[in-house]
Amino acid sequence: MRRLSIGVRLTLWYLAFFAVAQLVFGVGMWLILRDNLYDLVDDSLEEQVEDLKNFLQSQAKDPSIPRLREQVNQTFAIDHSGTYLELYAADGGLIYRSASLQAHPSVLVPPNQVKEQMLRSRKIEGEDFRFILQKVEVNGRLYTVQMGIPAEDAIETLHSFRSYLLMFAPLLLVAAAGGGYWLSRRALAPVDALVRTAREVSGTNLNTRLQKLETGDELQRLSDTLNEMLDRIESAFRRITEFTADASHELRTPVSLIRTEAELALRRSRGEAEYKESLRHILLEAERTTALIEQLLSLARADSGREKLHLQPVDLRQTLRRVVEGWQQVATIRNLRFSASLDVPDFFVMGDETLLRRLADILLDNAFKYTSAPGSVYLSLEPKGESAVITVKDSGVGIPKEEQSKIFERFYRVDKARSRAQGGAGLGLAIAQWIVTQHGGSIGVESRSGDGAIFRVELPMIATPVAPEKNPLPA
Ligand code: ADP
Repeated sequence: MRRLSIGVRLTLWYLAFFAVAQLVFGVGMWLILRDNLYDLVDDSLEEQVEDLKNFLQSQAKDPSIPRLREQVNQTFAIDHSGTYLELYAADGGLIYRSASLQAHPSVLVPPNQVKEQMLRSRKIEGEDFRFILQKVEVNGRLYTVQMGIPAEDAIETLHSFRSYLLMFAPLLLVAAAGGGYWLSRRALAPVDALVRTAREVSGTNLNTRLQKLETGDELQRLSDTLNEMLDRIESAFRRITEFTADASHELRTPVSLIRTEAELALRRSRGEAEYKESLRHILLEAERTTALIEQLLSLARADSGREKLHLQPVDLRQTLRRVVEGWQQVATIRNLRFSASLDVPDFFVMGDETLLRRLADILLDNAFKYTSAPGSVYLSLEPKGESAVITVKDSGVGIPKEEQSKIFERFYRVDKARSRAQGGAGLGLAIAQWIVTQHGGSIGVESRSGDGAIFRVELPMIATPVAPEKNPLPA
């Protein structure tokens, strides 16, 4: 079943609450009014009983019942207050019962049941009456009085009050429903505006933002949150688009170099040495392209969260020792001094050994690339609090201060021509930073243009794992 809109649901709730409130108010007012009106009638009844008491007091000290009857007849039968009067003596003898009550004995209560003052509503021939029943003590004699007066005015007032209530209640309800619906539409109007704008947002106009609300309420929070989400989506989308554009651009250069080299070689026939030279160039470019594609792939995998880390306790000293061995030969070929200080106790980190080797390779590769002979490259491993610090220091070209914050960005190269000549696409440090972040560490650079560079990586250390005992001695 289709759910009703929030506006309609709010209106229905509002209406339900309003109806209940109106009902409680109406019934409450009616009861209060009825009590007040009855109080007025009852007051006048009590006054009439008081008159009767005065009358009895004015009689002889010990009047006989026939005498009293005669007196009451004379005094009350003509007076309207005697129309609904019944008077009993203490011994149960009836002194007086008006003709109207004789005609309707059913409204009367036997005198022996009257104990304390009682006030009752009665109907006589379809008309409403209030009756008082009570004992009256006069000159040491106890009389029982039942006296009624019409309560028609009070009842009529009550009836007309009820009619007004019933007449106005539906009108009020309709007005409340209309008002409630209008209010809810007004309150929810910004939501419609947000929905309209949100529907228009697509990949081509991600810079569109939802209308900024200044209402200071939940809707403003909603639109602000959605706009913040759009900011994040836009920047992620822009990063992907830029990455694709930069990657295509980077791939185009080596491919066109390979193509040019091959075209030139094929333009005319050449000697074997020339063909070999061309093929060597082509091979070199193909190797660079492969390396570039691998870098691109690992960043793409990192972005999509598919690059899974195989975490285990890694002995950093051993890992770095193996990396350093690999670079010794490169240093000799390039005529660079290369030293490493790894004379430290076991340094264990929780990490992926392959990625940690790659991290060291990237930093050393850069140090070798940007240092010309006869310079030096130095790698060290030291403790710092709870962290292991890997430092790679070189005496190369250095990095200008203003560039240092950007070198970790993808495809960023300080000197484009030089980096490209060295085979760099500006991805190495981006990958290095991703690896460090995945290991819960940090990476930083210290350098001055022309004065070498120092890259420092801090990784959280773990306690040295206990090696499983080999060949335990029999007890
Ligand atoms: P690339 O593959 O181009 O070296 P990186 O991301 O590894 O890309 O480095 C980005 C840029 O930072 C390099 O192009 C280079 O300009 C600069 N850079 C990195 N390491 C060093 C270093 N040790 N000395 C001088 N410049 C460096």
